[in-house]
Amino acid sequence: MSLNDSWMQRDLSVLWHPCTQMKDHEQLPLIPIRRGEGVWLEDFDGKRYLDAVSSWWVNVFGHANPRINQRIKDQLDQLEHVMLAGFSHQPVVELSERLVQITPAGLDRVFYTDNGSTGIEVALKMSFHYWRNIGQPNKQRFVTLTNSYHGETVAAMSVGDVALFTDTYKPLLLDTFKVPSPDCYLRPDGMSWEAHSRNMFAHMEQTLAEHHDEVAAVIVEPLIQGAGGMRMYHPVYLKLLREACDRYDVHLIHDEIAVGFGRTGTMFACEQAGITPDFLCLSKALTGGYLPMAAVLTTDNLYQAFYDDYSTLRAFLHSHTYTGNPLACAAALATLDIFEQDNVIEANKVLAARMTKATALLSDHPQVAEVRQTGMAVAIEMVQDKASKTPYPWQERRGLKVYQHALQRGALLRPLGSVVYFLPPYTITEEQIDFLAEVATEGIDIATRASVSVAVTPGAPSDFRDPG
Ligand SMILES: *Cc1c(COP(=O)(O)O)cnc(C)c1O
Repeated sequence: MSLNDSWMQRDLSVLWHPCTQMKDHEQLPLIPIRRGEGVWLEDFDGKRYLDAVSSWWVNVFGHANPRINQRIKDQLDQLEHVMLAGFSHQPVVELSERLVQITPAGLDRVFYTDNGSTGIEVALKMSFHYWRNIGQPNKQRFVTLTNSYHGETVAAMSVGDVALFTDTYKPLLLDTFKVPSPDCYLRPDGMSWEAHSRNMFAHMEQTLAEHHDEVAAVIVEPLIQGAGGMRMYHPVYLKLLREACDRYDVHLIHDEIAVGFGRTGTMFACEQAGITPDFLCLSKALTGGYLPMAAVLTTDNLYQAFYDDYSTLRAFLHSHTYTGNPLACAAALATLDIFEQDNVIEANKVLAARMTKATALLSDHPQVAEVRQTGMAVAIEMVQDKASKTPYPWQERRGLKVYQHALQRGALLRPLGSVVYFLPPYTITEEQIDFLAEVATEGIDIATRASVSVAVTPGAPSDFRDPG
């Protein structure tokens, strides 16, 4: 038995993996990783995989990055953890100062949690609580976009709309207003992204006009709807949304958990619209992909609505045990240093251009409806029929074939349904981008040529889903 196999056996006898139908692993090998270095992951049999999806979108500067490693090691000798209620420490103060400094003007307060979903819970609860504190308790509901994803806890699921993740739990969820997404994949032929995103705003305007009295906040994934299939839209939508939220006295929550820290081409997506949201939720790349942590930034106005004598019971009595963990803060500080010292946002322009060039030919593929890109994210939408954009039935799991081919060739490309995408670490080279495009093209050829006999089984197939 190979080392891989033996670790796989031990794993499968005790673990329950995230977002996985465990029965899949009767056929699909699990890959035990022994070590990582830069863009590469290496398994126990010595095979290497180029991490094209940044290990679920977190790793921006490569695995085992020496600068981040050193910072964590130094911190480890000082202080591993202390509770953040009543206590403080150097890394959390420094990180908060820097987050306030690099995010748009007006976001002056930072609240921490230990993952993205709980960061979303905090923004939702704070918004709801704010309106109670200022005497408008009728503002309780949230407006969200179709095809959005904000995490897996119950309130975060409520504001999401990816059926695969939420349908089963419907009876548990909050009742939200769902507004059609500005998703430009769905734009009419020949229309620009900007015109389509602008047109789609009419739905949002109408919902806010009718319901603003009972709405606490609108929550969006700015520019890229990630888990919903890397669907993209134009920043004009965010600008119009900011204006409308001001007009109707509704909070704007930006979930930049996936897109923050350079993914869209700017440090934060909201910069492209020139706006400041009322809440900015950050996680994933915040710690360079090292440790779980989220930060929720908000305005002084919001903070002041909670600031009062204890007996008024206006305080935000929410906590997660590992809030502001010093090791995670150290990783985040090292990550911010790299952004600054290496002028990363500027350097990424060269890589983004190479991603455009390397995937350009795929637009002509008979089974590809669209190749789309925003900054350092490229997505390739495989379809059954190109002219009508008819999707493959999700049961065919075409993306899984791309995934399997890529693994053979030494790349970790894990599609979302029929959407193949690259979200690589920013330390990738131009040659490695060309390699990924080559592997993806082969994989798409194989996946779309295969005749698939569909076994329609109840239950949803991990995240190999059909978007939309
Ligand atoms: C990943 C993600 C989340 C949830 O973060 P977790 O750390 O997995 O809980 C929320 N919103 C968006 C946009 C995400 O991509």
